[in-house]
Amino acid sequence: MDREAPTAGTAPPRAFGVDTPRAFGATPALAQWFAVKAEQPDALIFFRMGDFYEMFFEDAELGSEALSIAMSFRGEHQGQPVPMCGVPHHSHEAYLARLIRRGFRVAICDQLETPEQAKARRASIIARGIVRVVTPGTVTEDSLLEAFRPAWLLALVEGGAAWLDVTSGAFETEAGADIPALLARLEPAEVIATDGLWPDATPATPPRDAPARLAAAFGVSTLEGFGSFSAPEIAAAAMVLDYVRATQNGALPHLMRPVPRGTAGVLAMDAATRRSLELLRNERGDTRSTLLHAVDRTLTGAGARELAARIAAPLAERAAIAARHDAVSHLSAQPDLRARLRAALKGAPDMARALARLSLDRFAPRDLAALRDGLARADAMAQALCPPLPHLLAPEALRPQNSPAAELARALAETLPARLEDGGVVAPGYDGELDALRRLRDDARGAIAAMQMELAQAWGVASLKIRHHQQMGYLAEMPAAAGEKLLRDPPKLAGEYAPQHRQTMSSTLRFTCGALADLDRKLNAAAEQAASRERAIAQHLRKLCLAAAPGITAAAAAMAAIDVHAAAAELGWTRPEMTDGVDFTITQGRHPVVEEALRRARGPAFVPNDSELSAGSRVCLLTGPNMAGKSTYLRQNALMLVLAQAGLFVPAEYARIGVADRLFSRVGASDDLAGGRSTFMVEMTETAAILNQAGPRSFVILDEVGRGTATWDGLAIAWAVLEALHDRLRARTLFATHFHELTALAGKLPELRLATMRVREWKGQVVFLHSVGVGAAERSWGVHVARLAGVPRTVLARAEAVLAALEARARQGGGALSDELPLFTPRKPEPEHPVLDALAEIDPDALSPRDAQEALYRLRALLDGSRAS
Ligand code: ADP
Ligand code: MG
Repeated sequence: MDREAPTAGTAPPRAFGVDTPRAFGATPALAQWFAVKAEQPDALIFFRMGDFYEMFFEDAELGSEALSIAMSFRGEHQGQPVPMCGVPHHSHEAYLARLIRRGFRVAICDQLETPEQAKARRASIIARGIVRVVTPGTVTEDSLLEAFRPAWLLALVEGGAAWLDVTSGAFETEAGADIPALLARLEPAEVIATDGLWPDATPATPPRDAPARLAAAFGVSTLEGFGSFSAPEIAAAAMVLDYVRATQNGALPHLMRPVPRGTAGVLAMDAATRRSLELLRNERGDTRSTLLHAVDRTLTGAGARELAARIAAPLAERAAIAARHDAVSHLSAQPDLRARLRAALKGAPDMARALARLSLDRFAPRDLAALRDGLARADAMAQALCPPLPHLLAPEALRPQNSPAAELARALAETLPARLEDGGVVAPGYDGELDALRRLRDDARGAIAAMQMELAQAWGVASLKIRHHQQMGYLAEMPAAAGEKLLRDPPKLAGEYAPQHRQTMSSTLRFTCGALADLDRKLNAAAEQAASRERAIAQHLRKLCLAAAPGITAAAAAMAAIDVHAAAAELGWTRPEMTDGVDFTITQGRHPVVEEALRRARGPAFVPNDSELSAGSRVCLLTGPNMAGKSTYLRQNALMLVLAQAGLFVPAEYARIGVADRLFSRVGASDDLAGGRSTFMVEMTETAAILNQAGPRSFVILDEVGRGTATWDGLAIAWAVLEALHDRLRARTLFATHFHELTALAGKLPELRLATMRVREWKGQVVFLHSVGVGAAERSWGVHVARLAGVPRTVLARAEAVLAALEARARQGGGALSDELPLFTPRKPEPEHPVLDALAEIDPDALSPRDAQEALYRLRALLDGSRAS
């Protein structure tokens, strides 16, 4: 795509001097700063001055604080010193990275002309302007990106969303998006939204002529060929494009055509579900101990990004899932082929991101090399893939049409400089004109050596050396004694060779002469011409790459997919059998993350477990003491479903899974005395979402729901939820609970099966077997667990006595639970304690601190009295 606005280099010099009271009386440079700041008031301005990017005023305060660099003052403005801090231009990327990570936006204000050009147009100051606004969702530098995560920029409008990754060109939309679920799925680097739609988003507005703008960006007259989009999707897509353009000074990166994602083909998971399953991030927010971390055997950044995307958005269509399984199967069955493919992937460059930098004309020589090497790897992979092949492993995409690979291989030098300006990008023999210019330049270098000999002889100074100086070019240098003699007694020579003194240093003197100056000029000219020729060739190569961009993008995507399929095969797991029914049969399933954690800690081996939630036994009620493995078992089955529908294999001996449309996972909030009410509220809101959305094709795990409230409330709610899931929603459900009373439902709900974590008692200690058995837990093991946790013996003894008494009372009362719901019968009023009566009479608001203390003493006395009696 071409630039819409003029590029930085050709932009007309910006008018400066804004007429705000704040800018009044500013120096020309500060006036420029005020103008730029007015353009980007929300960004820190990196204001280029010579070799530094400077920040001024409030930016300097924020910047010096965020970067821990010193702030100084420069001159005065309106009678006040001007705060300033700066970072060197050559290392600014590292500082930029820190600011972006801290959540700042940074506007890069560069010098748009050389001092000579400014002089030529009689300007008092060099023209400057914003060439780019750096935001978390629009960066392309590797140092600013996470290699293993896509960098989504998400745009939200009422009723639709669009998101793109400038570093890969991926571009997708969704109608009627559920914003929290979308955020949880994409984990965007940056969000923009129409006013008020999402609190943390940067405000934005869709353009008026959204469809036309979107079509124009892709060079088509209508969007029909791309699929069907709703009006809000188009508005969001046009809005996100405009935003990218605004940050890139009018340029757009290479983008794939937008794909309406619809939610139909994707397993729906809401934010709470993702959080509790720890798919890409764990509860602490980092990426260790997550499903992704446990299964990731990919070898490339692009492969890791693709794997993360698949786990974040598993499929919900059997054929599409099976196609991925076919690819993994093929590579599982052919370890040699897999090894060849992985050898080609190992160390392969990130073509998608290199292409993004090329398309934004912000590239380094290594980006060209990345395409050369990446395409060579792709070709090697294509050669390794021999038919018959499952269609996702078809090699065609690995060999793009009009591939620039051969041209790049011829053009690029063997070792490349870090920056284009350093020269030496183009290989000798590629371009005749460049070779000639370089010869001239190198000849001139030889001529310097010759000139050194000539001058040494002519001036009679054997120690004379010709050296190059940044400011003054080539000069003849000699020790002070020889130099002073030359000054006192210059040789009688023709003008061309007559020594001219330039500089006296402490121990050396520097001279030039007409012939040397002449040579210096020639050399400069040759070097400059060679450099400019090289720049032109680099641009030519860039255009070749961009012309083949769609093919290169497809090749990069094909490599990433193969990386994912091979990585899945690498785990040696089992292909799940997928059905369109509501099956869920697992034999000897494992929890990949817990298993890995146990292995790493050299702990006991993970105990595999079976599951059966197919028709006829859809709902499983799991009891068992704390720490017995209930949560692990629930999650392992949910993760099995995620892995299978993401197109990966599963950690089990056998799996038969009916494709689910929605997956829900809820973990009951723990008792939280301070915020108990609100956590319970959250728990109930989340549970309500399940009851409103789950259906017969859904899969639900509920882990101790109702835990966050008083026992009877919690039990009542858990009971009602379980009944609803069983009778009305008919979802496959795993329900862990510490409410033993719930097991009474087994006789009433035909599809409810009881399961319990097996536990053994050994020498008065509880031993967890971590295996799931049929039936209900015999008793509560809470007291045993308390002992494990180190609760003092006196307290344990008391607890055991209380438990025995309670159990005896329960036996007397009889098991009335199975017949009706005694939970809902009013409780018998219990005899009140005198302390409680006294407490009830106290009005805390009416007490002075002294009264309060006295009341405490009184209560305490009452308590002691009643204990003594
Ligand atoms: P619960 O939810 O019943 O309190 P968890 O599922 O949290 O128990 O498990 C507690 C601990 O037991 C886990 O952290 C893990 O170390 C261990 N564990 C759980 N399941 C297994 C298993 N199947 N095999 C081996 N260890 C397990
Ligand atoms: Mg638990």
